[in-house]
Amino acid sequence: MEHTCKKCTETKDINLFVKDKRKSIGIILTCKKCAKKMVLKLKELNPSKSVLYNIEYYKKNKARIDSNNKQYYLKNKEIVTKYKKDYSLKNNYGINNSKKYRNNNQIKIKVYKHNMSKTISDVYARGALRQKKFTKEQITPELIEVQRIIIKTKRLCKTSKI
Ligand SMILES: [Zn+2]
Repeated sequence: MEHTCKKCTETKDINLFVKDKRKSIGIILTCKKCAKKMVLKLKELNPSKSVLYNIEYYKKNKARIDSNNKQYYLKNKEIVTKYKKDYSLKNNYGINNSKKYRNNNQIKIKVYKHNMSKTISDVYARGALRQKKFTKEQITPELIEVQRIIIKTKRLCKTSKI
């Protein structure tokens, strides 16, 4: 089976495309070669804190980072909890309202969260990019696609414990 890349418009074997179960055809419309180029472009956009570098760094220092995060959380439990609470209040998620909503829509929320994380929706990828200090203008659909690939790679690293 062959497919045409929307980037370079070359038609090539389907194995040369990045797999994505989200899309009905089961692949991203961009070929692996172009996806790689996009990752490099991302590196240029964010040279001081390269996402890929972070992944490598995390893989190498996983135990230390995880324990640091845990220690930070334990030491600052109150601050973290307060921050989360303030954040939800500030964003209009009134505690009572959200509780009521959660109770009424338990299944809906479960499915939504599951889908959001599993398929790595645009909103999910956008959120991850915003956390990496990308501005709204910098976040293009391409970048979102790249971010999706990065999240997938990260998950792969986690499950295969590389
Ligand atoms: Zn291509």
